[in-house]
Amino acid sequence: MAQPAVPSTQVQQPTVPLRVPVREILPWAVFAAVLGLVLLYFIGAEQGATSVFSGTWVHEFTHDGRHLLGFPCH
Ligand SMILES: [Zn+2]
Repeated sequence: MAQPAVPSTQVQQPTVPLRVPVREILPWAVFAAVLGLVLLYFIGAEQGATSVFSGTWVHEFTHDGRHLLGFPCH
């Protein structure tokens, strides 16, 4: 009796194509994008005439991040 070309323990299972559940990911992607934009605003533009909050506490809190990302500061 002839032996099979591939031993039965090494039979390849059919590959299932990877599916990306866009409908499940989309709300989280939108949330992350909005959160990122808010953070980018507070780091990059929350000062002077564009300031939403009075005072300089937001500016001082994000000061190192502003310099790290190369936004103009002082
Ligand atoms: Zn600065």
